[in-house]
Amino acid sequence: MTDVMAWIGLGSNLDDPARQVNTALAELDRLPQSRLLACSGLYRSAPMGPQDQPDYINAVAGLATALPAGALLDALQAIEQAHRRVRGEHWGPRTLDLDILLYGEDRINTPDLKVPHPGMAERNFVLAPLVEVAPQLTVPGLGDIQALCDAVSDNGLERVGDVEWHPATPDVDRNN
Ligand code: ATP
Ligand code: CA
Ligand code: CA
Ligand code: CA
Repeated sequence: MTDVMAWIGLGSNLDDPARQVNTALAELDRLPQSRLLACSGLYRSAPMGPQDQPDYINAVAGLATALPAGALLDALQAIEQAHRRVRGEHWGPRTLDLDILLYGEDRINTPDLKVPHPGMAERNFVLAPLVEVAPQLTVPGLGDIQALCDAVSDNGLERVGDVEWHPATPDVDRNN
């Protein structure tokens, strides 16, 4: 089994957004053949599209996974459903949005899945948390994550706290 590092963008602006994101992180770690390896802090961002909705809480997470990209997308959509996401207007308010930002170095262009995520180069709420947690990252076709982040305004974005998830620490008491 070969793991791929998939970077997931999380966002919520309904029903206690920070809790939605924290709960989703634990659910990502519990996905089959998957382990959460890294996570940014929590960021508050202004909404895209319709402005008559609350600010968002965003984070990005690095998931080592053996799930193929299509199966990962299905699993993310199941988590969104478990958070009672209701689909309304485009870019409207939601309890949870999980986007596949990157899937290793793959470039995917199918009707249901585009990777790297087509919006990521314009989105400070994706780029800033990625720089925080993976500053050496290169985005296939787009280049260095820090340069991408430097090219967007940080207007409307603020880091507001840490996530509840912590990386597992090596167990020093165990001989293995
Ligand atoms: P945006 O994609 O601009 O961030 P959104 O997250 O609000 O907007 P959704 O309504 O959550 O859009 O998703 C619409 C569809 O996007 C999904 O059903 C899925 O098939 C498709 N999609 C394409 N590429 C991706 C990706 N990289 N990650 C998640 N969904 C994707
Ligand atoms: Ca796991
Ligand atoms: Ca999205
Ligand atoms: Ca989405």
